[in-house]
Amino acid sequence: MADTDYDLFVIGGGSGGVRAARMAAQRGARVGLAEAAALGGTCVNVGCIPKKLYSYAAHFAHDIEDAAGYGWDVTAPRFDWARLKANRAKEISRLNAVYQQLLQSPGVEIVRGWATLTGPHAVSVRTTHGVKAIKAKHILVATGGTPSVPEFPGREHVLTSDSMFDLDPFPKRLVVVGGGYIACEFASIFNGLGSKVTQLYRGEQVLRGFDPDVRGFIAREMTRSGIDLRIGTDVRSIARSAHGLDVKLSDNSTLQADVVLYATGRVPNVNGLGLDAAGVKQGKDGAIAVDGTYATSVPSIHAVGDVTARIQLTPVALGEAMAVVDKLFGEGRRKMDYDFIPTAVFTHPNIATVGLTEDQARKAFESVTIFRSEFKPLKHTLSGSGERMLMKLVVDAKTDRVVGLHMVGADAGEIVQGFAVAMKAGATKAVFDATIGIHPTAAEEFVTMR
Ligand code: FAD
Ligand code: NDP
Repeated sequence: MADTDYDLFVIGGGSGGVRAARMAAQRGARVGLAEAAALGGTCVNVGCIPKKLYSYAAHFAHDIEDAAGYGWDVTAPRFDWARLKANRAKEISRLNAVYQQLLQSPGVEIVRGWATLTGPHAVSVRTTHGVKAIKAKHILVATGGTPSVPEFPGREHVLTSDSMFDLDPFPKRLVVVGGGYIACEFASIFNGLGSKVTQLYRGEQVLRGFDPDVRGFIAREMTRSGIDLRIGTDVRSIARSAHGLDVKLSDNSTLQADVVLYATGRVPNVNGLGLDAAGVKQGKDGAIAVDGTYATSVPSIHAVGDVTARIQLTPVALGEAMAVVDKLFGEGRRKMDYDFIPTAVFTHPNIATVGLTEDQARKAFESVTIFRSEFKPLKHTLSGSGERMLMKLVVDAKTDRVVGLHMVGADAGEIVQGFAVAMKAGATKAVFDATIGIHPTAAEEFVTMR
């Protein structure tokens, strides 16, 4: 196809789209990318990065409390929400510019506007200067996802995570609905920053899909840190009153809140994308259906990341983008491996996990050995904090391979990333046992559990 504008045209300048565009351009492809909002997508603008910055901010509350036992007198600390918001906004603007540079340096042309597929090789982008028609040999859809809120009376009063970063004023009373990543992280963050947080979860325990020990442990820790966590509880209706928002619950009681955050999952960003016109097939919740090489039902159109509604994590979108670029412009050898993907939930304390839960392992293997340790971290012997730590190994008894590793405790994400390498390499419990610990650390517990 000689008469195309681009070898690859990417729709969406988030984690997956930016990575694919710049890697393809570095390989010499003519690449264009459409982005309707800020460069960097969910992760940079309303996801991982601002969330982690706010999580750091919230941790200072504990650190200040902990300091007293170590001899520090920190008198009358005061939290300034406006300053945190302004500093976050400045950092995110800096990152937006970094992303622009990352694209422009290897020669990616950025088209600002909303893109719609108009055929297997055609896209139209609505820009401020009019509609731009684009022809491309390959198209990559990386349009991400968007929060989903169920229908119920009073739905119009709730916010989603997208609006939480710039709240004004700071919510003194916050109700969080949901028991997944976002609900647990935002409950922890706003609790740390000083809101009175009530978290409502409809099921039996938060963080469905995580190891049962981890779920129970974090629920106790979140409650201990001051969150009013109510499981088996849902919202019936919400109405505005003189006291703020009246939240009527499934047990017929009523809560008052300044803000109600719904963190009830995300759906693929496919509205107005022209999938029908291009003949791209969709699956559950509208997700773009792809094969093992990220090709959609239209061979010239690929899709990666949250829009395919599989594992919604930034490093997964990045890995999928690299695999597509290698398929289209490289040797086609790079495959994304979905086994042993580590993940962290930035609750207070953090959760990190890699591999199988105990339940999954018991289903997959004949015999499983569990090593579990729960303890007070050394830091809290003097701080007086009641925070505890949990570490757990799940081992396939037949092969001795460590097939699951779970942690709840400070810096869990930092610690588990390294262990994920060992597990990916097939480390056995004997290898863990033969590894010398670093003393005194919390992480050494993983190599001393017998
Ligand atoms: P996105 O990053 O969402 O990018 C999609 C882009 O496409 C957007 O910029 C959008 O504006 C643009 N777009 C959409 N439609 C069009 C169109 N038609 N035309 C032009 N542009 C369009 N993951 C982690 O790994 N770690 C974390 O700590 C973490 N924290 C998170 C916290 C929150 C609050 C949220 C919401 C998510 C978090 N995630 C985290 C998930 C992570 O952000 C996503 O998995 C990741 O951003 C997905 O990347 P993507 O490229 O698929 O889509
Ligand atoms: P999740 O799918 O993780 O959790 C959704 C929660 O909402 C579940 O507890 C679910 O309950 C509940 N829920 C769903 N529908 C309803 C309803 N109608 N009424 C009441 N509750 C409901 O989604 P999130 O929105 O928390 O996050 C989306 C994704 O973003 C995550 O899955 C994750 O992949 C990614 N993310 C990653 C982070 C990280 O890496 N640290 C941080 C934040 C997000 P039930 O369990 O009963 O279905």
